Amino acid sequence: MKVLIAASEVAPIVKLGGLGDVIGSLPKALEKIGVNIDVIVPYYDTAKVQGLAIYKSMDLEVPFAGESYRVEVFKTKLPETNVDVLLLRNSKYFSTGGKDAFANKPTETEMFTFFDRAVVEYIKSEFNTYDLIHCNDWHTGLITHLLENEMGPERPATLFTVHNLLYQGIGGKQLVKDAGILPGEHKLIDWDVSDGDVNLMLQGLTSSDYVNAVSPTYAREIVTFEFGSFLSDVTKDMEGKITGILNGIDYSQFPRDFDTKNFQKKKHEYKLNIQNSLGLEKGEKPMFSFISRLDPNQKGLDILIKVIPELVKHGGQFVVLGTGPKEWEQKFTDLANDPLLKGNVSINIKFDVNLAIEIYSASDFLFVPSRYEPCGLIQMIGMWYGALPIVHNVGGLKDSVEDGVNGFVFNEYTSGRLWDATHKAFQLYGTRNHSNMVVFAMEKDFSWVKSAVKYKELYEKVISLHEESQF
Ligand code: ADP
Repeated sequence: MKVLIAASEVAPIVKLGGLGDVIGSLPKALEKIGVNIDVIVPYYDTAKVQGLAIYKSMDLEVPFAGESYRVEVFKTKLPETNVDVLLLRNSKYFSTGGKDAFANKPTETEMFTFFDRAVVEYIKSEFNTYDLIHCNDWHTGLITHLLENEMGPERPATLFTVHNLLYQGIGGKQLVKDAGILPGEHKLIDWDVSDGDVNLMLQGLTSSDYVNAVSPTYAREIVTFEFGSFLSDVTKDMEGKITGILNGIDYSQFPRDFDTKNFQKKKHEYKLNIQNSLGLEKGEKPMFSFISRLDPNQKGLDILIKVIPELVKHGGQFVVLGTGPKEWEQKFTDLANDPLLKGNVSINIKFDVNLAIEIYSASDFLFVPSRYEPCGLIQMIGMWYGALPIVHNVGGLKDSVEDGVNGFVFNEYTSGRLWDATHKAFQLYGTRNHSNMVVFAMEKDFSWVKSAVKYKELYEKVISLHEESQF
């Protein structure tokens, strides 16, 4: 079985968020169970290819918006694997991307429409040797339509994975024409563009042979209006055709120099170090952290910010690492300057993978109070580093955290319920039970092994469904 994974990012070459982690680690696990897998992403100027053996493998001519563009295909290996990563270079469309995850700007929808067309040209240039194209989120929403147009029934099967349904890639309707799709060719596109724009998530969902979400709970949630918004009208009809597979993490990306035997001593040292480097008061205080995109619609910023004064009053410390809209960066920065909180709050407005690891290692508790969370990796990474997650009972958080066992779970999305869970963490802090929970958390296995087997089975199922539909 030969599979091509198409996505907007792949860690460690390009990592803007959890999607990059997933695309960088799933292929590794699939390769180990015998799937022949390639990954294709845009080659942004920000791509980290230093130290990798990379070479140009071919040129593609990509028709787009009435012109023909040269796209250079570079090849490298995903570190520590034999997986080919194909990087598509074009100075007009890809050089400025890769800085901002989920910006959802019009220029991005144009960039990814071009990307989809280029991916299809690549598949054609490979003599259609792929059995399945695994598309990910709105960035890849037109691939199935374009394959259908270019190859008809001979096209490979397609699986579309929803990592976050609420980022949809809505662009001007001319993008469809730019990609080479004409009115009358696809009913769903005609219907979609009748209001003047195209929704690339909607197109990916409805055109692909099969759809999955990144956790079983999220697969159930996205058919409801609460989580699926207006797209729930579409997903509802697909009930039974959308499955959920929990993401895993690649532990080799998260170095750790302690284990379940010596975590107390080592985490204490990390805490003292980070208190020092972040200018926090030194001492044995419970440390609560928040490492995240500062996305006010998703990440629970509104309920989180309300509990911080109480948290500090109870003797805790609070550390933030994240970036987002200026307004929210400022709101958090103001906390650190509040005279009542000064010395016990550290706000770090940046994206820094190494600092993230230091914070995970030093923290006792990790907030993941997301309003919705398709899967979430932060809680899994936190557990690996012995930081107990405090999570809202949704999506992948529900599927990975057990209240009172390896973290804390609250049901209602309010600052009151978040505070109740935080208060339980305070009561637990320093007790024997705390150590037991940390050991449970550190021992929980979120590696890709199990989920990769599920993906392999799903690939097989989708390929045979596609074959059957040809007869
Ligand atoms: P999402 O994909 O919604 O951003 P996830 O929980 O799935 O959230 O994954 C987030 C990933 O990005 C984790 O690996 C986390 O450590 C990392 N991350 C988020 N913000 C930062 C930051 N400011 N600096 C470093 N790493 C970050």
